[in-house]
Amino acid sequence: MVFSLSQMTSKDVALVFERYDDVVILLPVGSLEAHGPHLPLSTDTMISNAAIERAAERLHKENVIGLIAPAVSYGVTECALQLSGTLSVSPETLSMWVKELIAGFLAMGATHVCLVNNHLEPGQDEALVHALTDFSSHHASLASPLKKRWAKQLTSEFKQGNCHAGCYETSLILATMPDVVNTDIQHTLKPISISLSDNIDQGVLDFVDMGLLDGYSGDPSQATVQEGNESLDILATMIVTTVTEALSHG
Ligand SMILES: [Zn+2]
Repeated sequence: MVFSLSQMTSKDVALVFERYDDVVILLPVGSLEAHGPHLPLSTDTMISNAAIERAAERLHKENVIGLIAPAVSYGVTECALQLSGTLSVSPETLSMWVKELIAGFLAMGATHVCLVNNHLEPGQDEALVHALTDFSSHHASLASPLKKRWAKQLTSEFKQGNCHAGCYETSLILATMPDVVNTDIQHTLKPISISLSDNIDQGVLDFVDMGLLDGYSGDPSQATVQEGNESLDILATMIVTTVTEALSHG
């Protein structure tokens, strides 16, 4: 069973808090960002939502209730700003907004709030780490594939850092919301091997300046549902582990 806050009534929520000692809020974080000519702007938010749904089912089996919160669907998205449809907020604004959301959920009675981020621009992750500084690790955490522990388990394209709307993300969306992928275009896309992490390390922050003229890097044409499901399992394990470790910190 998966509980989604946006579809529950006030009374439903009151009953959940009454019935269970530990209620965890799972807060998806994403972006509105160009993701090649074949994936939608909300790709990162969709990945966070899908991973959370899978994690919530597993947590439920371990008697931990995860309430899925409506997503934070805009983020620090400066790298893709030259590409249409991309919108960026400042790290300060994102941090403050997320901080207030965490405080609000804790005031509501939640034991823990777990942020789940799949928009992997360093400025976004840093802003989210900053948002946690007001809270103990028992009360708030960040599940992010940028952490080495999880990154090393993901696909080779992911680890090479040349993935934006490439095989990794396209596979994830094919496994969760296949209808939103423009597969006609996806199959025509040539592999591009531009490392975002190397460029960012060298101070080149803009996708167009890096050479990602179509807003993707990696090999989207090779994406498969099977790879997407395997990656999604790892992302779900990341969330379940982050939550259970936080709860055990007392
Ligand atoms: Zn993305």
